[in-house]
Amino acid sequence: MRPDPDCRLCGLCEGRTQVVYPDGNPGNGIIFVGEGPGENEDLKGRPFVGKSGKILEDMMAAHGFGRADVMITNTVKCRPPGNRDPLPEEMAACRPFLFSELEDARLVVGLGKSACRNLMGYEGPMSQIVNVPVTIDINGREVLFIPTYHPAATIYNRNSRAALDETMRVVSQWLGRPERQEPKTMRFGGLMLDMDGTVYKGGVPIPGARELISFLRDQRVPFVFLTNNSSHPRSFYGDKLRRLGFDVTDREVLTSTIATIRFLLSQRMGRTVYPVAVPGVVDELREAGIPLVEEDPDIVLLTFDTMITYEKINRAYRFLKGGAELIATHPDDLCPTEDSYDIDIGPFIRMFEQMCQTTATVIGKPNRLMLEMAAREMGVDPGECVMVGDRLYTDIAMAQNAGTQSVLVLSGETDEGMLEGSDIHPTAVLGSVAELPELILQSFDDRRQPVAGHPTDPRGQVARCSWL
Ligand code: SF4
Repeated sequence: MRPDPDCRLCGLCEGRTQVVYPDGNPGNGIIFVGEGPGENEDLKGRPFVGKSGKILEDMMAAHGFGRADVMITNTVKCRPPGNRDPLPEEMAACRPFLFSELEDARLVVGLGKSACRNLMGYEGPMSQIVNVPVTIDINGREVLFIPTYHPAATIYNRNSRAALDETMRVVSQWLGRPERQEPKTMRFGGLMLDMDGTVYKGGVPIPGARELISFLRDQRVPFVFLTNNSSHPRSFYGDKLRRLGFDVTDREVLTSTIATIRFLLSQRMGRTVYPVAVPGVVDELREAGIPLVEEDPDIVLLTFDTMITYEKINRAYRFLKGGAELIATHPDDLCPTEDSYDIDIGPFIRMFEQMCQTTATVIGKPNRLMLEMAAREMGVDPGECVMVGDRLYTDIAMAQNAGTQSVLVLSGETDEGMLEGSDIHPTAVLGSVAELPELILQSFDDRRQPVAGHPTDPRGQVARCSWL
């Protein structure tokens, strides 16, 4: 029994674009029940087509099955306004349609709270019931029901993701699919940590960040802090971290200035440099042995000079017009401050490039050079390193450029919307660095839980699944 496309049995008929009918194959007797249709489902007339659908499809695929092997439907067939949960009276009005879809089900998987509320009458937290099978009454017939998380609830919660993954494993057993290959575990040979937005924000440490450093020392995982900010010498950042309670040395900080110094010493040996930099950074360059000049340089080096003047800009312009090479420590347009952003060097790079018809060599993130230097510093192969940061287009892009692993933390600049719309993909996403120790320990632990026997068909005996 399907609802009429003009069904008006409940108030949800008012805001819908169309009735969203089930999708997939009911032939295997396995039905996934989600919540109410969201915006994408309402527009496309198909359940689970947005980000949640992608997560679900990826998880199913990881266990060797797909949408064509199960049927996917919703508790109510029309979109609740503002993506709210369906109301009890709306679920009651639509229940006859849902029950007719479940009539021949062998196994029903409830994806999220609405499904569990509707089919089990359960109102508590999902964590109490997830993956604990129960039987439910469908038109006088007992059917096995597995409550689990909605895919959307797994985006930033690894425990939820693991629980939904376990559900998919059981479904694959019901389908008689072979066990999947375990995904590759992340390798934490060495950690590169961005600073602002990752381990502190403004002048305040991110909760759990200082403990992470102690953990890394205990576990003997080498680490280095990376910052693109070249407005201060390295010792400034070491001091700042120590002032905030981090147990670090200056040598465990790699700034884009230090990376640029190494580049100049190895790739532009003996070339003279006109620095556009604050006095502390000029001193750092000089002490490192960079030949600094005020006239006729081979290179104009642009750093984040918060004391830049018209005179410096004009001199740099004249040197570049005269054939000097433009090198910049990093490409950032903006630098985060406690309550806003300051203009960084990106606009200056573009100005000089345009005015002098040149292209800058840019050293800092996302240039893989910086990651490779940090890896060398730690004595670790770049492929074994993990870059941890809050910016997709610098931190994560650098790891992507270097073909290594990355963890995006959502404690800084990037939010879920930016992540969703980006073509830069971190290996893992965490709320903050406080969650890193668990991920690292998990990567160390190659002891896998043994898999218990397959669940039996409930038409014989009620299943005892491996999580019971
Ligand atoms: S949600 Fe179900 S009962 Fe309500 S209008 Fe839509 S199809 Fe009809």
